Amino acid sequence: MRRYLYVSLAAAFGVIALKLGAWYLTGSVGFLSDALESLVNVVAAGFALFIVGIAGRPPDSDHPYGHTKAEYFSSALEGMLIGVAALAIAAEAVRRLLSPQPVHAVPAGAALNLLATLINLGVARWMLGGAQRMRSIVLEADARHLLADVWTSVGVLIGVALVPLTGWLWLDPMVGIVVAGHITGEGWRLVARSVDGLMDRSLPAADLAEVERVLQGFRSDEVRFDHVRTRRAGTRRFVGMHMHMPAHWSLGRAADFRLQVERALTRHIAGVVVTIEMLPQGQESLQEGGQEANPQGADPAVASPSRSPLAD
Ligand SMILES: [Zn+2]
Repeated sequence: MRRYLYVSLAAAFGVIALKLGAWYLTGSVGFLSDALESLVNVVAAGFALFIVGIAGRPPDSDHPYGHTKAEYFSSALEGMLIGVAALAIAAEAVRRLLSPQPVHAVPAGAALNLLATLINLGVARWMLGGAQRMRSIVLEADARHLLADVWTSVGVLIGVALVPLTGWLWLDPMVGIVVAGHITGEGWRLVARSVDGLMDRSLPAADLAEVERVLQGFRSDEVRFDHVRTRRAGTRRFVGMHMHMPAHWSLGRAADFRLQVERALTRHIAGVVVTIEMLPQGQESLQEGGQEANPQGADPAVASPSRSPLAD
């Protein structure tokens, strides 16, 4: 993991130098916007390096659920930095639209920008492979950001190259504005993803279906599952639920059954932490509007009439 981040950091410094060179030679807002976006990459990658060290720590007494949520700080910050860069680009572009200026030495600037873009493409593809293997959202955020950078660079290159060919001076600031709009969307997605994680949004539908499929194999007239709750924290996923069983089962029998369910879930969903609360049929825990077991043996499906709004 650290290897990826160190390499991306080193590559980003080279890329920024090349893109700033392209801007310096040409005076193009398009190239400036491209360079600023890369600068955001460096700051974000540096912060990610720091955060990954924290996220990888095992659970301790202060943080018994682990430190994996630290990743969300990194992607949230990256998303916000992108937003700031977008604003800066848009401001410069609007200024240039109002007072157009020519761009110079476009072929030399374009060559520097193209080299920087190829470096980014190589690094991004390499990091994306690593992110999928390790299921790390820090790495994925960085790689996707780099890829977005590559596409915007291609657009910038085409746009700026057209300026001397067409003589349209407004094209250069327009390129800057399009870049700003494009990266704003990317930043928004990163922030939204962090918010989902921090707000304990449930696992994606595919994971929920997998949980449901596993539980289906254990359901019977005697055993029932409800109040299934899921969330994720960086690379870890959490699944909690009730397991209702006949009140006459011994604790040992119930625990054996639960162990089988836990094993099946951890086998089918990578990196999952399972918490199963064992309850007799017809009785709920207090937080689910629990009450005394109904001695008449009421239908368990209607035995929890006062479900709290939090229950799913
Ligand atoms: Zn229940």
